[in-house]
Amino acid sequence: MEQVKNGNEGYNCPICGKWFADVDSFAKHFEFCNARRVKENREAEEKKKQEQKEARLDEVHAAYEKANALRDAYIKDYGYYYSQSGTSLAEFLDRFLR
Ligand SMILES: [Zn+2]
Repeated sequence: MEQVKNGNEGYNCPICGKWFADVDSFAKHFEFCNARRVKENREAEEKKKQEQKEARLDEVHAAYEKANALRDAYIKDYGYYYSQSGTSLAEFLDRFLR
């Protein structure tokens, strides 16, 4: 870590590059600078995760909107709609009570 700059010995912060002539000043700065680096990295990671979460929610909303539009068009053309998971009363009557 000790380096020579313009003929003077000193210490360069490996994070921000700031120069210190004595080791105590460098050590004090490095503790602060490294803590700031860790905090900034953690905040950037949290921001990225939040953005990914919001993008996924936008995908869900877009899929619902598309599904709703398709269902509405289906109802317009055929007069009724039933979901894949549940049998509508009309379908039940068609199948079993004719
Ligand atoms: Zn620094």
